[in-house]
Amino acid sequence: MAWDILIVGGGSAGCALAGRLSEDPRRRVLLLEAGPAFPDAASFPPEVRDVASLGGAADDHALNWAFPTELAAGRRATTARGRLLGGSSAINGANHVRATRADVDGWYGWRWADALAAYVRGEDDHDFDGPAHGHDGPVPVERPADELLAGLTQRVVRGAASLGVPAEPDKNAGGAPGVGLVPANAVHGVRVNAAMAYVLPALDRENLTVRGDTPVARVLVERGRAVGVVTAAGERVEAAETVLAAGAVKSPQLLALSGIGRADELRAAGVEVLVDRPGVGHGWSDHPSVFLGFPHDESLHPEAVSTQALVHLDAGALDPALPADPAGDLEVLLFCRPFSPGGPRHLMCALQQPESRGSSVLVDADPSRSPRLEHHYLASALDRARMRAVVRFADDLLAASGLATRRPRSDAELDAWIAGSLTTSSHLCGSAALGAPDDPAAVVDPEFRVHGVEGLRVVDASVVPVVPRRGPAATALMLGERAAALMRP
Ligand SMILES: Cc1cc2nc3c(=O)[nH]c(=O)nc-3n(C[C@H](O)[C@H](O)[C@H](O)COP(=O)(O)OP(=O)(O)OC[C@H]3O[C@@H](n4cnc5c(N)ncnc54)[C@H](O)[C@@H]3O)c2cc1C
Repeated sequence: MAWDILIVGGGSAGCALAGRLSEDPRRRVLLLEAGPAFPDAASFPPEVRDVASLGGAADDHALNWAFPTELAAGRRATTARGRLLGGSSAINGANHVRATRADVDGWYGWRWADALAAYVRGEDDHDFDGPAHGHDGPVPVERPADELLAGLTQRVVRGAASLGVPAEPDKNAGGAPGVGLVPANAVHGVRVNAAMAYVLPALDRENLTVRGDTPVARVLVERGRAVGVVTAAGERVEAAETVLAAGAVKSPQLLALSGIGRADELRAAGVEVLVDRPGVGHGWSDHPSVFLGFPHDESLHPEAVSTQALVHLDAGALDPALPADPAGDLEVLLFCRPFSPGGPRHLMCALQQPESRGSSVLVDADPSRSPRLEHHYLASALDRARMRAVVRFADDLLAASGLATRRPRSDAELDAWIAGSLTTSSHLCGSAALGAPDDPAAVVDPEFRVHGVEGLRVVDASVVPVVPRRGPAATALMLGERAAALMRP
């Protein structure tokens, strides 16, 4: 066989995995990416390089998959995903915040120490030292410099403090949730995506081949073993081991197209069933969110960069009627840049541990057709109550920061406003969740191996059983690091 390892998808996890595995010159690694593979950092489009821009995530951007979805009954939207070498890390907010220990403690067969070691290996933290921080990794992590904090960010940090929110200066220290600055994988305003960090510096390795513009159609499974893939162009590519790192929408779709998934769903789509795993594409979670806009006078509060304040809160501490979550189950994130020139600034309010679970149904054996995605956001009364609590807090925060007057609203008014404003953080996780072999919801084991098929792993955000209490970007990179360590011969 030409390849030892074939990786499908060069996103956050796939790039980390390809970069690390190819450090061993004896491993012949092939990475197939559906979108373009820009050859160096300067070739990425400006809106992809500029960390203050979310232009790459615009619905009509060529580098965004923009999967159609239904967030809640009747509320249609798209969920953004990067379609290029670098994947979603190339179009995301670049907030690099680790999952909490409480998140990883809930993963079957994982220990926090292993996750922490993998986070540390990947990072080069420019601000904080100590054993819980890395300095040799390829991913730079920086908080905004003090001199840039004259504007909105500082107002919001002070506003939160005046409301009794504790300071959390290092969001990656594993301390109690509070208010702090966003650690970002960016240097000098450039978003350092996973391709820049892990793959582009490795392109001269003879044992690593990266092919862009090569969408994969399905995995080839013969006598219970994955032997490679078929590309959309019909090319058969064989490898001793195949890894799906196509992200939380496409990895489960590729499993289903290959006959691994919910049997009745596969048959209805015209796909022969090889392994009945009901968890493929089902039971995933994401962070429901709403944006609270507020007017902003640039001359009063100039902001040099898109510095962001990030607040994590325990819903139970805001409202004793809500369950306590000491790790922080609510998030408020300041966006300093307007979404359109002259427009309002925003606080994003999000549920970090929603009860709602999504489904991703294979509707067609044609790999170019998207699965039918449904988020089922705010279906539970508890989720609606927690969302009201975080929006009310954000209203208070604006008032305390001198940015807008408080808008008291009844529960019914607030529910209606939230339903009409609902959006997604695009943090989909758990569509091919890790878990025990006898757990029908589980798709992979703790070492990322697909239950019921030899020679096949899934390494990306799909395997995280429940969306973590913090954004999943740092965690997707960590999964690539962890998988590479486990796959060493
Ligand atoms: C707009 C936006 C903003 C976000 N902001 C943040 C943030 O600030 N902080 C945070 O923590 N998280 C954020 N996230 C989430 C975070 O970026 C993702 O969870 C994370 O990058 C997912 O990594 P992944 O490896 O699972 O998948 P991805 O990075 O999406 O990689 C999947 C890759 O597989 C490729 N692929 C797909 N199908 C195929 C196929 N058939 N054949 C070959 N290749 C294929 C894709 O093109 C892509 O390159 C954001 C996401 C988006 C979209």
